[in-house]
Amino acid sequence: MENKKALKNFTEAEMKEFMKEIGEKAFRGTQVYSWIYKGAKTFDDMKNIPKSLREKLEEVSYIGNIDIELKLESKDGKTKKYLFLLNDENIIETVMMDYDSRVTVCVSNQVGCRMGCRFCASTMDGLVRNLEPWEILDQIMKIQEDTGKRVSNLVLMGSGEPLDNYDNTKQFLKIVNDENGLNIGYRHITLSTCGIVPKIYELADLEIPINLAISLHSPYDDKRKEIMPVANKYSIKEILDACRYYIKKTNRRVTFEYSLIKGVNDGKKEAEALASLLKGMLCHVNLIPINEVDERDFKKPDKAFIYKFRDYLEERNIPATVRISMGSDISGACGQLRRKHK
Ligand code: SAH
Repeated sequence: MENKKALKNFTEAEMKEFMKEIGEKAFRGTQVYSWIYKGAKTFDDMKNIPKSLREKLEEVSYIGNIDIELKLESKDGKTKKYLFLLNDENIIETVMMDYDSRVTVCVSNQVGCRMGCRFCASTMDGLVRNLEPWEILDQIMKIQEDTGKRVSNLVLMGSGEPLDNYDNTKQFLKIVNDENGLNIGYRHITLSTCGIVPKIYELADLEIPINLAISLHSPYDDKRKEIMPVANKYSIKEILDACRYYIKKTNRRVTFEYSLIKGVNDGKKEAEALASLLKGMLCHVNLIPINEVDERDFKKPDKAFIYKFRDYLEERNIPATVRISMGSDISGACGQLRRKHK
């Protein structure tokens, strides 16, 4: 498939261009595009496309489909976890959460990850490869097809580091937002990063109003270096400067993710330091009790500690929410299901 183009990598406008490049009329692009978003899996499904063009498309392109390998549902039925089989036999995982009239999908961005965060299951075997834009997109399309529901919200918080796969992520954001495609609004999309500073600036310069989430996990550089190797490259100060730039460019509130780990980052001292770091910033803190991963010895703090940490922040006027992880009965978090399946 090397030289063949994946058609799900294209916006509608790009599909029309592609048709012209292969000597066809632009309106064929509109037709093929609409077949793809109606769920056509093969060119033969595209009934109003002449056979000669279908054969030509077969030669120069492919649609781009991934397959459901396994699906698990939480007891309350609101969280579903999918393992998808890619064309090269790699496996990725995706989560769907169906809560309060919002259907949110958490997509993977890479097979594995090379960021090396100590508490995370996705990075244990390093990076295998980047996902193509269409492979990120098709996670959503296959879940919509499987559940019959429209996905309204999207989080780029699955396996991988989206800003380490920047070009493909950028194209993915364009196609997932395309009007006659999935048409997911930028304001309903959140991209989470461990803090790759130069790419935060590039993302800001795109001036698309997606939500930015930063995995902070400690207000101290030396502690961050212990648990997140990327902190050796970029300091908290550099990250926060980039966030201020992001806010200026997009007018969006930035989210800081803070996974609470017992005895590591859950004390009053940390809460106070975090509050003074974030003072005056248009932001919000998500507190997530760490998901205990079999291979790692990090533990969750006791419930009381978690809510105390939130109260310290709130008392200092930093809005904070405790996110109790959903679907942990189905390895609902952080690359654990894929590891177990392998
Ligand atoms: N690479 C990106 C996005 C993927 S991780 C990032 O680092 O932000 C999504 C979020 O889950 C990040 O905040 C990450 O730090 C967090 N995370 C990873 N493993 C976790 C675990 N075991 N428990 C709680 N949060 C975890």
